[in-house]
Amino acid sequence: MRELRTLPKAHLHLHFTGSARLATIQQLADQYGISLPPALANQDFDWGDRGQDWSYFQNRYDAARQTIRSAKDIHRIIREAAEDDVMEGSGWLELQVDPSSYARHLGGVNPAVEVMLEACQDASRATGIGIGLVLAVSWSASPEHAEHIARVAARYAHCGVVGFGISNDERLGEPDNFVVASHIARDAGLLVTPHTGFYTDYRHVRRCVELLGARRIGHGITAALSSRTLDMLAQRQVTMEICPTSYLPLGVLSSLRQVPVTTFQQAGVPVALAADDPLIFGTRLVGQYEIMRSVHGLDDQALADLARQAVCAATAPEEVAGRLRSGIDAWVGA
Ligand SMILES: [Zn+2]
Repeated sequence: MRELRTLPKAHLHLHFTGSARLATIQQLADQYGISLPPALANQDFDWGDRGQDWSYFQNRYDAARQTIRSAKDIHRIIREAAEDDVMEGSGWLELQVDPSSYARHLGGVNPAVEVMLEACQDASRATGIGIGLVLAVSWSASPEHAEHIARVAARYAHCGVVGFGISNDERLGEPDNFVVASHIARDAGLLVTPHTGFYTDYRHVRRCVELLGARRIGHGITAALSSRTLDMLAQRQVTMEICPTSYLPLGVLSSLRQVPVTTFQQAGVPVALAADDPLIFGTRLVGQYEIMRSVHGLDDQALADLARQAVCAATAPEEVAGRLRSGIDAWVGA
């Protein structure tokens, strides 16, 4: 059995705030005189019944976000996320962020994006990992706000923004509201990657692909229950960003065995394993691969295939992707 940490990886689904180290969030909270919810501060992952409530996740997330206020904080979080990813074999990282959440501390949406892009470049130079930024809006956003953020994403498309995301609880919005925004993003050459198929069924996933032109899907686990949808996803080679440790705490699956990676693989649908919010769920990228090995019994060849699928779905420059592919071949050939 090969060491999973040394398997070269692309990490395609990691939220900016959710990437933070707990110790860093605690230090920032102390610095700003903010008290964190005990569950977050203790990193107590016994979610119990409350784990089935999205608001419980959202409250923890919002508390952590309150502690990130300055350009310096943002540089620190992104630098540490890059360091942690490099330690886990990742050579390409896509960080997802809703810039509106930080705009008030940084003088507006555009300045916030510029701070983040600068932080990505600094972290990339310091650690050697390539980083792309996915600008996201919440599913609860108005069409006008989504279009505004899509235009901002388009504006920075050649400076490190690689995609347009729709995050948060997908029950809060309809794909129809994001058609224009997705067009704006796609016209600028950006990837569209909405969160869907977490609480909603396969029909919501299909609409994200058909109406929004999504080339990747955040989660999309309910699509595994519809053979027609699996066929469509396979035909279009839409990649599912699967984050095994995100589903049990929120009650959408009841065991790690139910994470439908094998169903997608058997249907020919690409999968990219990712960590989503390690600050909240407690597991980083290697842990997701470990679950596929220990719980699903995948051998090293299958794990290497998953790593290849993530590289294939990444927005990384060909030079980076090629290096990762060669590294994966070397890992599995060793
Ligand atoms: Zn997510």
